[in-house]
Amino acid sequence: MKLYNPFKRKSISERDSDLIWHPLTQHKTSGNLLAIKKAKGALLTDEDGNEYIDGIASWYTSMYGHCHPAIISKVNQQMKTLDQIVFSGFTHKPAVVLAEKLLEILPQNQKKLFFNDNGSTATEVGIKMALQYHHNRGEKRKQMLALEEGFHGDTFGAMSVSGLSVYNGAFKDHFIEVVRLPKPMGHNNDEVIEKLQKLIAENSIAGFIYEPLVQGAAAMKTYSKEGLEQILEVCKKNQIICIADEVMTGFGKTGKNFASDYLSLPPDIICLSKALSAGMVPMGITSCSSTIYEAFYADEVEKGLFHGHTYTGNPLACAAAIAGLELLASSEIQNNIQSIVVAHQQFANEMRNHPKVAEIRQIGVILAIDLNVEMQRYGSLRDQLFDFFMENGVFLRPLGNTIYILPPYVIKKEELEKIYQTIKACIKEVIPINQ
Ligand SMILES: *Cc1c(COP(=O)(O)O)cnc(C)c1O
Repeated sequence: MKLYNPFKRKSISERDSDLIWHPLTQHKTSGNLLAIKKAKGALLTDEDGNEYIDGIASWYTSMYGHCHPAIISKVNQQMKTLDQIVFSGFTHKPAVVLAEKLLEILPQNQKKLFFNDNGSTATEVGIKMALQYHHNRGEKRKQMLALEEGFHGDTFGAMSVSGLSVYNGAFKDHFIEVVRLPKPMGHNNDEVIEKLQKLIAENSIAGFIYEPLVQGAAAMKTYSKEGLEQILEVCKKNQIICIADEVMTGFGKTGKNFASDYLSLPPDIICLSKALSAGMVPMGITSCSSTIYEAFYADEVEKGLFHGHTYTGNPLACAAAIAGLELLASSEIQNNIQSIVVAHQQFANEMRNHPKVAEIRQIGVILAIDLNVEMQRYGSLRDQLFDFFMENGVFLRPLGNTIYILPPYVIKKEELEKIYQTIKACIKEVIPINQ
């Protein structure tokens, strides 16, 4: 008979399940979570020594690869000099240098940066800037405008402007006021503008928040650039503050530094996080034009932006972000981006006419493949796909029937090729021809 053995060590995964409540997880059905012991470049290693290629750069944060020596070195140096300081009432060099470097590459109308510590609060602050901008000018504007199916984060404002789903449904009655617009897809651009005009006439819209050109969490859904430009034009004419949520798209993923660089009209506000601090330390930033800033610049204290988080402007996060920007500007990373774009294009061409592929979308290093399957199968299919990839040493997080790749820029050619081959094998094995 086997007795309780006090010497048997539990795995990290087992110890975790006794104690920890994970994000975006239904623990009753999720099973134990895999423990990752280390990561380097595009490779993750679990506690048993199995390796996985990180095909989504750990939610698009680690774009320069995990544990990059240049980033480690900068953060390490900073750690020995200044670790943390209250950012309300004090400042420091890493924050100033980061601001200078970032404003150099952001759209030219961006003039001021508001520091934060994650993507949701970066958009939350963008929303608050838009609402308070009108309030400070003595104008009553109540609603935010958002695109259907968007994702902007999990705090209350950010969640309210995100598309409705099972994830935010429980809080629906507590949302801030939001009106929604379908995505312009090219063929419906005129209808979208008509609907926008109607919404503007019937409401008092303060700001418009959007993920420029591609909606990440909605399964990398791309939409019409011309359509978005038309919306921005109408918004600007009506003094609706335009907020580009570049938390996902920022820092080279679309092939340009920011997705907004593709558009002729710059946003008033830009929200940044994820790859901003290179996957090393959490950080968020909301940048804005001088028009926005000036509406808060006044003798009255209450016209200021009273929002702040304790770790705002953390020097280590700033150091990581500076190192990230230096890498992004390097010819090595820029060449890597181009190579991934070309490799993606070839793979997309190869897969385009596959009978089990419904649609392929690509922008920059983002590649999404919609599989041709019945809607009812999405839920179980997603888990089957995920398991197949992990069993074959590839970490991807399919969304519904969509498989997407968003690899770190430093991914090796062979590693990227392995992701493609695994996707091909997966489509062959997981989806029956006669489904
Ligand atoms: C991830 C994401 C957010 C939220 O960022 P968190 O750091 O997870 O709070 C907001 N907007 C977009 C577009 C995102 O992809």
